[in-house]
Amino acid sequence: MPEKVNIAIDGPAGAGKSTVARGVAGALGFRYLDTGAMYRAVALLALEKKIDIYDHHSLCELAKDAKIDIINSNSGETTVLLNGADVSAAIRTPRVTKIVSDVSKVPGVRSILVEAQKMLARSGGVVMEGRDIGTVVMPDARYKFYLVASALERAGRRARDLERMGFSVNLKDLADEIKRRDHIDSSREADPLKPAEDAIIIDCTSMSAEEVINSIVTTVAEGLS
Ligand code: C5P
Repeated sequence: MPEKVNIAIDGPAGAGKSTVARGVAGALGFRYLDTGAMYRAVALLALEKKIDIYDHHSLCELAKDAKIDIINSNSGETTVLLNGADVSAAIRTPRVTKIVSDVSKVPGVRSILVEAQKMLARSGGVVMEGRDIGTVVMPDARYKFYLVASALERAGRRARDLERMGFSVNLKDLADEIKRRDHIDSSREADPLKPAEDAIIIDCTSMSAEEVINSIVTTVAEGLS
């Protein structure tokens, strides 16, 4: 069993972070945490409670009261519970994706979720995936990776994910959506999307998920041996 270091994986939407982070965690016997799922859960709650995305005070209250549990099964399935209800599929729908970046840019929402993420990282042995993991949530992580891929490749990956979930998709609309979300995520004041200074940048455009996973696992294993 490798030493229980933490691994941060950041990058823009659709770069393949979830598949890669889950695979790395599986290969090393580490825990996997998808922090985007937490922001998505708060966004879903805002939709359910009909909270205006400009009402930052109410969004913070929602985030404070939300009980979000993320459970990873041995078979690689992730279940997201929001106040006890399984919202794993509901948080991935286009209507949640549409507003999640407006919810996640609220500083008060971020500080509540970042605090929870820091707690989850405390015991080590975590592969955490998001936008600000290497810069804010785990600035001391031993390994930091920042995944990038061309806009076209990222839109294609999101299209395949959504088609698997039964949604019909338009590639141009998806590319626009990704561009809009990346813009909000990287230009916000609180914890913007950017690589940590000490992150290793991997361009995944022409790499399979397995190749990216192997490259990260090799880097980590060499560092720990
Ligand atoms: O990773 P995913 O696309 O599911 O993330 C959804 C949204 O959650 C991102 O577009 C971003 O606005 C927000 N997010 C964030 N910080 C993180 C993870 C996700 O702001 N650490």
